Amino acid sequence: MATHEHFIYDDDQCKFVPVAYGKSERYLHTFSIWLVSSVIFACIGLAVLSQNVGTPAELALKAENQILTSHLENTKTSILTLEEQLDGIAEMDSKMYRSVLGMESIPEEKREPGIGGADIYSEFELYSEDASEILKWTASRIDNLERRINVQKMSFDEIQNFYNDNQERLKHVPAIRPLEGILLSGFGMRVHPVFKYKRMHSGIDFRADIGTHLFATGDGVVKYAKRNGNYGNLLIIDHGFGFETRYAHLSGYADGVRVGSEVKRGDLVAFSGNTGLTNGPHLHYEVYLNGDAIDPLNYLFADVTPEEYLMYQEIAKNNPASMD
Ligand SMILES: [Zn+2]
Repeated sequence: MATHEHFIYDDDQCKFVPVAYGKSERYLHTFSIWLVSSVIFACIGLAVLSQNVGTPAELALKAENQILTSHLENTKTSILTLEEQLDGIAEMDSKMYRSVLGMESIPEEKREPGIGGADIYSEFELYSEDASEILKWTASRIDNLERRINVQKMSFDEIQNFYNDNQERLKHVPAIRPLEGILLSGFGMRVHPVFKYKRMHSGIDFRADIGTHLFATGDGVVKYAKRNGNYGNLLIIDHGFGFETRYAHLSGYADGVRVGSEVKRGDLVAFSGNTGLTNGPHLHYEVYLNGDAIDPLNYLFADVTPEEYLMYQEIAKNNPASMD
């Protein structure tokens, strides 16, 4: 065939003439074309494969990267949990300790120091986009946690000093739960269980079987211990420093509890019941400061963890009805 012929210039004839190849020369020619094509295809194939699959060393690195990335993802979850716990501590710090002690709360901007400029984490830009993003995130959140913990630590030191200077007052401030029990309803506007319309619920309700032990929440003097209309059997303790606590719907009073008797925080003072206007056995507990009813949830600080405090707030917020 014409395409397989090769030509050579013949000086004698002054023109190109076909080269006459021997059989072996033709085989060699065909074979060399196959060889060159195979090498080219093999090189292209390897290049494509190495991009998508990689050498054994690259595969090992890839696997290691995946493990590190998943560790970083786990760290991210731990950081978010820590941040949540710190939120609980900070909220308890300002809403309970500081407000109860009459100390000024820490300004929000001091608690949430701005995250440093993006530049300080630019060293991570060496890595792939995904890795650099998660490394920057982790580093900045840890720095932020560290700053917030320092602010919290300073605040607790300050509270400790205040406590040392005000121990007498603090023995009297209501500061513990009046019983071991589950919170049913919070302070504020609530649907009344009997009247079925919204009205001010000036205390908090705890689930309590009849006869459950009730304790004084701060040192004080019994001011009232008898029946009182819708409150049923009522106990009022005057704690001094403007504080008063009320226990309603009682089934009875502890031995020796009568008007004028002195009580210490943690003393057994009464038994819960179902007297007066109620929707079932429970304890209705009120805290007054200078004659005004205030939210008792902020006066449980001596025996409530930050987690419990947040849980109580959640229950109080989400339960629209009271037991009264
Ligand atoms: Zn109530």
